[in-house]
Amino acid sequence: MTNSKSVFRSIDAKGSGKVSVEALVHNLESSGIALSDPRLQSLRLRIAKEGSASLSSEEFEEWISHSSSLLTRVVKSELVIPRFDEFAKEIESLFNHTRGIESGAVANYIPHLARVPENKFGVAISTIDGQHLSFGDAEEGFTLQSSCKPILYCAALEELGEKTVHSHVGREPSGFSFNELTLNKQGLPHNPMINAGAIMTSALIKRSLSTADRLDYLTSLIESLSGGRPCHFNNAVWHSERESADRNFALAHLMREQGAFPDGVDINATLDYFFSACSVEVDASALAIVAATLANGGICPQTGERVFAAETTKHCLSMMHSCGMYNYSGEFAFTVGIPAKSSVSGVVLAVIPNVMGIAVWSPPLDSCGNSVRGVEFLKQLIGRFNFHNYDSLVESQKKDPRRLPHARETDHIYQAIYAASIGDVSELKRLVAYGHNLNSADYDGRTPLHLACAEGHAEAVQYLLDQQVDTTPKDRWGNTPLADAKRHDRFGIEEIFKLRKRCSRQVPQSNVRAA
Ligand code: GLU
Repeated sequence: MTNSKSVFRSIDAKGSGKVSVEALVHNLESSGIALSDPRLQSLRLRIAKEGSASLSSEEFEEWISHSSSLLTRVVKSELVIPRFDEFAKEIESLFNHTRGIESGAVANYIPHLARVPENKFGVAISTIDGQHLSFGDAEEGFTLQSSCKPILYCAALEELGEKTVHSHVGREPSGFSFNELTLNKQGLPHNPMINAGAIMTSALIKRSLSTADRLDYLTSLIESLSGGRPCHFNNAVWHSERESADRNFALAHLMREQGAFPDGVDINATLDYFFSACSVEVDASALAIVAATLANGGICPQTGERVFAAETTKHCLSMMHSCGMYNYSGEFAFTVGIPAKSSVSGVVLAVIPNVMGIAVWSPPLDSCGNSVRGVEFLKQLIGRFNFHNYDSLVESQKKDPRRLPHARETDHIYQAIYAASIGDVSELKRLVAYGHNLNSADYDGRTPLHLACAEGHAEAVQYLLDQQVDTTPKDRWGNTPLADAKRHDRFGIEEIFKLRKRCSRQVPQSNVRAA
């Protein structure tokens, strides 16, 4: 059966031979794929032209011909978050919970930031498969400010490579505030995630272009990273930034005095470029897609365009992980454990590699300069889902939305049965260490002991009996493990059972308990 035919049959649950356009769109949207997704352009145009229709299998095939692989993954629940509607509900509850927090103060070093209402709050999440959700003010514009720093760093790496870029900027957390007048022992900015470092990357990018072309390059880069969402340049913010930039001018002069810049860099033009990058206006939805592009190794999930090399994103995420959250970076890496970058506009851009990008925007900041609700939302997210970088090392009750419900239990059941069938005792031990119950049976009622007996794996049978598994479970044909051993002439196995019976008769109860 072709992909399109199986998609049709899956959506036509009642077998009526017709699928409505509404049902098709509903399937897409509940899996997090909006009709506005660039990959659905031809379907969108068709719907706009022909309106809602009831499609036969052949018509359906034609309508989805340009998006059948995406739709196949949708109906097969193969997207990275297979139950996206359930995940979205959990995010909504986190969003509502975080909304109640009212501490923090809006940045006031320029009037434009000081004027933003404190109650603005938007959350957007975009996955590496282009699933997208947003709540609150996620479509309202704000300026990038420090969240431009990962983008500037990636752009510099793409153009000049790691070696050249890092001959002008270090990669250690500074231990000081983001605009501290300080450089490292080599006279270079400590890292690209603080102001001095971003001024440096601003100096390195597209030096041969005119100022106007450099700005065009930056905005078109951001549009590519966000799947084509338009971004604007906020001229008023740029002027304000420039007027209140004594510290940034001081940093640039200090770096010039130390010989940190490449020869011939014009520091005024460089600072103007940095202020321009800070003054690009986006919204949380667009920024979540930027973060998803980083999570996806540099390929924008919604357009399939490779914007950055995978290596570039790897370097950038490493820097964000160690230096992205101002003076809270170490604490954030410990407690939340994902790469992130915050900015004085109140946005936190966070990345769960190979899974999703997140943008949380809420202007009131804490004493370190991080959005109070942004940090709290991410803490709660990590408390609920196993997204911390090292969560895979520990057994916890956290949810894994990457997996279908019960996938883990069924995986363990089949792993144990397969291990028993090939006599792999080490694998059985590993599963026990994970808390797996070796009495669990598959849908035919077959247990690991059935398989180990039927295949004659004495060591595995011995191990299972030592683990006190039930020795007389019946499969759906009424067979016990011992009956399987007899049927397959596994005489050695029968001996193990006999010996065990004899021992259990002979060994006094107190010894059994002691053992
Ligand atoms: N434009 C801001 C400044 O230079 C960027 C800093 C930030 O967002 O952390 O102070």
